This record gives sequence, structure tokens and C-alpha cells, in this order.
Amino acid sequence: RLSRTFRDNRRTATLVLLCTAVSGGGYFAYGQLAPPEVVTDRKKVVVLGTGWAATSFMKNLNSPKYEVQVVSPRNYFAFTPLLPSVTCGTVEARSIVEPVRNIFRKKKVDVQFSEAECFKIDAENKKVYCQSNANNSLDGKEEFVVDYDYLIIGVGAQVNTFNTPGVVENCHFLKEVEDAQKIRRTVIDCFERANLPEVSEEEKKRILHFAIVGGGPTGVEFAASLHDFVNEDLVHLYPGIKDLVKITLLEAGNHLLSMFDKRITAFAEDKFQRDGIDVKTGSMVVKVDEKEISTKELNNGGKITSIPYGMAVWSTGIGTRPFIKDFMSQIGQASRRALATDEWLRVEGCNNVYALGDCATINQRKVMEDIGAIFKKAEKGNSGTLTVKEFQAVMNDICERYPQVELYLKNKQMRNIADLLKEAKGDVQKESIELNIEELKTALSNVDSQMKFLPATAQVASQQGTYLAKCFNRMEKCEANPEGPLRFRGEGRHRFKPFRYKHLGQFAPLGGEQTAAQLPGDWVSIGHSSQWLWYSVYASKQVSWRTRALVVSDWARRFIFGRDSSRI
Ligand code: FAD
Repeated sequence: RLSRTFRDNRRTATLVLLCTAVSGGGYFAYGQLAPPEVVTDRKKVVVLGTGWAATSFMKNLNSPKYEVQVVSPRNYFAFTPLLPSVTCGTVEARSIVEPVRNIFRKKKVDVQFSEAECFKIDAENKKVYCQSNANNSLDGKEEFVVDYDYLIIGVGAQVNTFNTPGVVENCHFLKEVEDAQKIRRTVIDCFERANLPEVSEEEKKRILHFAIVGGGPTGVEFAASLHDFVNEDLVHLYPGIKDLVKITLLEAGNHLLSMFDKRITAFAEDKFQRDGIDVKTGSMVVKVDEKEISTKELNNGGKITSIPYGMAVWSTGIGTRPFIKDFMSQIGQASRRALATDEWLRVEGCNNVYALGDCATINQRKVMEDIGAIFKKAEKGNSGTLTVKEFQAVMNDICERYPQVELYLKNKQMRNIADLLKEAKGDVQKESIELNIEELKTALSNVDSQMKFLPATAQVASQQGTYLAKCFNRMEKCEANPEGPLRFRGEGRHRFKPFRYKHLGQFAPLGGEQTAAQLPGDWVSIGHSSQWLWYSVYASKQVSWRTRALVVSDWARRFIFGRDSSRI
């Protein structure tokens, strides 16, 4: 049988050689290779950023018809969901970053990378103004201008301090890899300082008081990671001061994780109470001094309280970068909170400029127009009213068309439409009651004005990057055969289908090897099994095999040896 296999393979090999020779003969006969695809009029695409949105765009772009220039102050991609793990040494900083040149090297597309920061966009003349990261000792930072045919803005957002005095000077943030490394050093620093012999008991207590501002997913995950670090590792190393450690979580709203299902919120609050993490809801931070945080107790008549602290971490949400604000004023979007795009991710008010990820938001005006049209269709005989049942049908229609609306309602825990109606009309108990359409529309526009249509998550940013790259890959094909929906006013079809976000669920790690998972279809799972799901999802989502191997080995190292507490 072996010799038959050998003979068969030999026959195949001979055939391959013959074919090669024949085709090679053809090549030599004609004196040249079959010409590779030569693209003469390549369009210049400039990509700003190397975060989730921009990297996912670059990973999926495969048409040789573009010449791409990427500009970002970071020459690496950072896996942000693991930043809280870096703060306590569960995972090392270098394990969650991948040099972007490694990612671009494998592409067929011509890509150039410049480590620089864009500081101005001139959409009229199609130019971006950049400043190199490196300090040139003679002339300061080097500036240069890049022309583009298409501009992709994926610069993310910056921390929002809500102009609270003292935050920038005294608080740590958790946005970048450097922030996480700084937090790790400061935590150890606090323990070492508190352990010095001359420090009074009261001062030790202050130094070992860790205050976290913001009860969203990042604040909660950091509080949980810090609690684990202290209780699993540091208490053994600093036995004399272990009882003085305190972790406080300050949240202005009435609950933690308000964007998650109520069951998760309740579990998290109970668990933190059991763990001894002091959760202060209804506490709005109004000022941060070097050693004290002042809070306004919203549920206690606005009383101002001072809390001494050793280290504070500010994690209350995101705001727009200054140069994006300037750009927004330039294109008539000054009153907005983020760059408004249409459903094809094109920035409104300029040509060939796209924005995705945390710096952008899909314009809701268009959505509201559509919602108005759906109501109009449902309205019978101009009566101006709908029954609850009809209203539910309208809402189903809206949610089907705009998954973002559905997601928002879910996130706000308005799983029951009646909750929304309560907002609209006070209290609606009976099915047969007739609802005033105008009031309903007002209620919906209230919902609309409160929401940023899509959550600012890596999931959204990365899906947008993939969507846009696929549009760019098929640009020519879709110019010839548009596949999008019909435009208003009979202008034919859009080239592409609009962007549709697919929500794949979200996690909230709560410490002690327990995680809360909220998956599509309102499926909630909390506990140790979800922690294993979290490990597998985050390992599988790594951008390269290198980082995947590093992250998994860090987890294994932590299981075996514990976390490293050296202050380096
Ligand atoms: P970013 O990823 O922030 O990237 C922005 C890029 O723009 C960076 O490369 C930056 O260097 C670059 N840039 C900045 N300024 C300029 C400039 N002037 N010129 C050029 N380039 C510039 N999301 C989830 O879905 N799941 C999670 O578990 C999760 N956990 C998180 C945990 C933490 C601690 C944090 C901070 C965020 C977390 N997120 C999570 C949110 C997620 O990280 C963001 O939504 C996502 O990073 C947004 O992607 P982006 O590409 O818009 O911005």
C-alpha cells in the first residue's frame, strides 16, 4: 500500500512539475510573468488612531486599491478590557499590547505608520495636520501635513472629569496602559508608606483608603480586582497593616452597573457588601484635594462630606478630545457631544470623512424621523391616539429597525414597554387605554436625547471598523451595483447596506473568580462558571497568538505563584 501511495504521489508531483513547466514555458515564451494587479490610481486613505476601531478597520482592509497612512501617538494596539487586570499585576502590561507594525506587516495593502498625533483636520482641503510624538531637541515637536482622499477618524475619547476641581491634579485615571501601570505602582507605594514605623495610625488608615469614583463597569471591575489583590496577596506580605485597608466606591446614581440587568446590579451590590467594599451610592464628588475627597450626598439633602483618602481612581465616563471639538465647530456640529455620522458612518457635513468608535455617534435625527413615520402609519383615522397594544406593535417595529433603541431600553431596564409608558403618561395600567401620539413621541424623544445611541464599547468600535473595511473592499463593485436601501426623494439606492450593531453580550467581573454575564436574549449568568466563560472569550478575542499565549500564561502564573507585588 505504501509503495502505491508513493507511486500515486510521484504521479501527482510529476503532474504538478509538468504544469509548472508548461506555464513557465508560456512565461518564458512571452518573456514576462502574468502581470500582477497593477493599480495606478490608488486612493489615499488616512487612518487616525490604533485603537479598537482603527485596528479592526486595518485588519479587515484587503483591497490593494488603497494607499494607507496610519497616524497615532501609540505604535501599539491595547486590549483595554484587560486594563483593570494590569492595575493589580494579574496580567502584565506587555501581554495586552501588540505592535501595530506586526499587524500591518501581514497585509497586502500598502500601509505606512507615523507615530504622531493629529491636532487639526482641514476637511475642505482634505488635509490633516500632525505633530510627531518624539521631541526634536532643536525645534520641539516636528509637524507635518498629510493629504487624503478618504479620512477615517478612530481617535477614541478622553476621560471626562466634568470640570470637577482637583481631579486632574489628584486622581488616577484608567484609560491607557500607562495609567494601569501607574495605579499598580501607587497601590504598592501606599502599602510601603503605611508600613513605615513613624507613621501614625490615623495616617496609615488614610494612606490605605482607596477611593474609586464611578460605579460603571470599569470602576466596579477595578474595585473587585483591587479587593482580590489585597486579600489574596498583600495581606500576607503586610500582616501588620492588613486590617487598616479600606476600599470605597462612590457613585452619584442610586445603583452600581446601572446599564446592566437589575439582577446583576443587585448581585454586585450584595457581593461588595459581603466583601467589605464600602459602596456609597447617591454620592457625587464635587472636589478632590490632595488628601480629601468632598462629596455631595444627593439622598441626604445635598450634605457635603469629606473623605480622607490615600489613592483615588476617577472612572466616570468619557468626553470628546479637544481637536475633535474644534473639528466639530468647523463643520457645524458644535452643539454635539460626539462626531455625528449617518448610518454609513460618514461624518455629517463633510465628504469622504468617516468616524467610528468612541469619538462618534450615529445621528439620531434621522432615526427620530423614521420613528415619527412609523407612528404616522400606525395612527388610525387621524384620531391622534393608539391603544397600548398598537403602541407595542409600533415599538416592536422600531426595535426591529433600530436595534440600538431596543438595546437602550434594555440597558435602562425598561424591558417592559409599560415602563416607558409610565415615563410618558404617569401611570398606565389598563390595556384598553388610548395613548396620545404626541405625548408618546415626546417620551421617545426624551429617551432619544438621553442616549448616546450605541454604547462606547470595544465591541461597537470593532464591529464598525470591520463594517467600514468591508465597504472599502467592495467600493467599486457597490458603485456599479448598489446594495443599500432606497434613498429618500428617489435618488436611487445607497451603495452599501447601513451599519447594524450586533450585541453579543457584556461581562462584569466581580472578583473572587466570579463574573456576571449578560448575554443576548436577556440571558443572565452570575458566578464561577461565567468567570470561565470570561477567560475563554477574552483569550479568544486577543489580537494575536503572541498576546493570547502571554495572557494565558499570566493567568496561569497568577494561579500558581500569586501576583507580583514589587514596586518597579
Ligand atoms: P481607542 O481604543 O481608545 O483608540 C483610540 C486611538 O486613537 C488610540 O490608538 C489613540 O492613541 C489614538 N489617538 C488619540 N488621539 C489621537 C490623535 N490626536 N491623533 C491620532 N490618533 C490619536 N469595552 C468593551 O466592549 N468591553 C470591555 O470589557 C471594556 N472594558 C474596558 C475597560 C477599560 C479600563 C477601558 C478604559 C475601556 C473598556 N472598554 C471596554 C471600552 C473600550 O476600550 C472602548 O470603547 C474602545 O477602546 C473604543 O475604541 P476606539 O477605537 O474608539 O478608541
